[in-house]
Amino acid sequence: AKREGRNRATAFEPRLREAQLARIGIRDALGLAIAAGQLALHYQPQVCARTGRLQGAEALLRWTHPDLGTVPPSMFIPIAEEGRLIIELGRWVVAEACRQMAAWHAAGHGYVRVAVNLSVRQTRDEALPAFIDHVLRTTAVPARCLELEVTESVLMEDTDLAVSQLARLRARGLQLSIDDFGTGYSSMAYLRRLPIDKLKIDMAFVQAVPGEGEAIASAILAMADAFGLQVVAEGVETTAQRDFFRDAGCQHLQGYLFGRALPATEFAASWLVAHGT
Ligand code: C2E
Ligand code: CA
Ligand code: CA
Ligand code: CA
Repeated sequence: AKREGRNRATAFEPRLREAQLARIGIRDALGLAIAAGQLALHYQPQVCARTGRLQGAEALLRWTHPDLGTVPPSMFIPIAEEGRLIIELGRWVVAEACRQMAAWHAAGHGYVRVAVNLSVRQTRDEALPAFIDHVLRTTAVPARCLELEVTESVLMEDTDLAVSQLARLRARGLQLSIDDFGTGYSSMAYLRRLPIDKLKIDMAFVQAVPGEGEAIASAILAMADAFGLQVVAEGVETTAQRDFFRDAGCQHLQGYLFGRALPATEFAASWLVAHGT
């Protein structure tokens, strides 16, 4: 039995090592990605549930590695989040989104509200509010046009620091949303004291419409209404889902039914030019 155990261990080790090396390889490559110009933001439209008109966009990070090709964020964000790399990456995202908003404005499109994703570690970065201030000042983008998306878990893990940091940003006029709402077990009492403007209903509930997602979505919408929060349904793929959320009083919709995330130039051509924004 002993030998068997040892054999199993030796058979397993190389694979474990390989996986670790692959992770380290990705981390190192990611560390160089910003300077190498391999990162880009793609923009996914958010529309008004009643009129279908463009209301803003969510910026989603894309990494094109010369050998690996397109690496999905679900693969590299968690690796970046293991260390300080996420701070650098997150700052690049904020700066790039604002640079793009300024460029669209300069091209005559007006200001398009852009939401960026913040990870847990970033909300604990005490230099974040000053960094965002600096970016807004240098790009001349109005604070109300920049929205920050944080997950419920961000606020539950390190409540005091995260909440005070986010409150400082919101006091400057930025919009704050809770991403993937409904998955993090926030209590109502807790939600009520958060400095937020908007909830984004988790895609899993949206895609369970028609069906068991309806009751959950209705409960979230009723609660949001009571607290004066706006709601975005994300991951809307069907007209039945669109109709359900519109009729239930949800203000904003996002999903493949309206459009996928597009590179900035394509987003401008399909959404800003076409919709006269
Ligand atoms: P998320 O913030 O919940 O973003 C929504 C994800 O759902 C995006 O995937 C988007 O492309 C996808 N999606 C949008 N509409 C639909 C739909 O109708 N159907 C389906 N099936 N999917 C839809 P993506 O771009 O692969 O991003 C995955 C996750 O990676 C994001 O989830 C977010 O957590 C993270 N992420 C992306 N960009 C950033 C970033 O700049 N910073 C950080 N910290 N995280 C990011
Ligand atoms: Ca998001
Ligand atoms: Ca989400
Ligand atoms: Ca998510």
